[in-house]
Amino acid sequence: MKTNILVINCGSSSIKFSLAEPESGQHILSGLAEKLDSTHALLKWKGVASGSKELGKAGHKEALLGIVDLLQQLNLSCSAVGHRVVHGGEKFSSSCLVSEDSLAGLKANSHLAPLHNPVNLQGIAAAKLAFPDLPQAMVFDTAFHQTMPRQAFLYALPYALYRDEGIRRYGFHGTSHRFVCQEAARRLERPIEELALISAHLGNGCSATAVLGGKSVDTTMGLTPLEGLVMGTRSGDIDPSLHEFLGNTLNLSLAEVSNLLNKKSGLLGLSGKSNDMRELLEAEAAGDERAAIAIQVFVYRLAKSISALTVALGRLDALIFTGGIGENSCPVRQRCLDLLPFLGFQVDAEANLTHGQDNKGIISLENTPCAMVIPTDEEIVIARDTAALIS
Ligand code: AMP
Repeated sequence: MKTNILVINCGSSSIKFSLAEPESGQHILSGLAEKLDSTHALLKWKGVASGSKELGKAGHKEALLGIVDLLQQLNLSCSAVGHRVVHGGEKFSSSCLVSEDSLAGLKANSHLAPLHNPVNLQGIAAAKLAFPDLPQAMVFDTAFHQTMPRQAFLYALPYALYRDEGIRRYGFHGTSHRFVCQEAARRLERPIEELALISAHLGNGCSATAVLGGKSVDTTMGLTPLEGLVMGTRSGDIDPSLHEFLGNTLNLSLAEVSNLLNKKSGLLGLSGKSNDMRELLEAEAAGDERAAIAIQVFVYRLAKSISALTVALGRLDALIFTGGIGENSCPVRQRCLDLLPFLGFQVDAEANLTHGQDNKGIISLENTPCAMVIPTDEEIVIARDTAALIS
């Protein structure tokens, strides 16, 4: 019998879901409950059926009950629920079943991700009410990076801050990096244990990871997802003295600086226009100087980070682009690879235009270092981990 897994990704005011079939990698039904806790919450779905339903003042629990109803109406069953959880800290280096013990461990980590983990816990509690008889699993964004060596995960701070407070680099987007690296190995028909890979997940959030023999050995995000690359609205790396500087010069509070760095910076901050790469590329083509600058900084910092990550690998067998920008934007990929001639990359312009679709995702010329485009699928990783845990 086929096992369907319901994958849940709880945000502060939304729940993304997918009913997925782990073996085939098929999404049977996927959707989004959004604007939760307002007066006009909405549930939308597509797949074997498509539609939408108003949920009124629904919160997370009511939205999940709405999803249960929907599955029942469509005569769809599931065997377990898999949750995306943002921060597993050092406690979780792989996915696990939800139990009193694992929930206590997750609560103990909540200070590391105060915006995300409490929402994930809320989602797990609501799913327990909605699906009282089903096993549930947690799949962590940080877990894949727990193999990073000390030299990559330690900040050069007083050691006690790591030992006593857990302040270190954790990295995020782990499920996505894991998926695309495994998929690259499959497409290249080489065992992942033999490969040195860099994956660049470029969506609204962006991170790049060095993966050696299937294990993450360094990544650009840190204690929080703010570190590293330029993103849609996040600054990525900045001078750590900036908080103090902005406090002194503009009288901003810590919370105001954090808000500025997380919500008003990155592509949006530089362009003053949009966090959406498509809009910025169009604006650049129409002569918008600020859009051009935003893209230039984005691409330069990406190439610089990819080059830095090769230090963790010693060599590079393939560079993988994924996420909304990585999967769809030929100019961003081309410009990034053009900045890395010392790594030997040579783009096959035609293959890049079609995202490498006709050749396993490969967009580089034959007999040159391999650059690939691989669409990510975090939900399938969560469904597969959950299925493995319940069997
Ligand atoms: P994600 O968070 O993975 O959904 O990615 C969102 C980002 O992907 C946004 O910046 C979009 O502008 C970008 N994106 C999606 N499609 C394209 C495209 N065809 N060209 C450039 N960027 C795109």
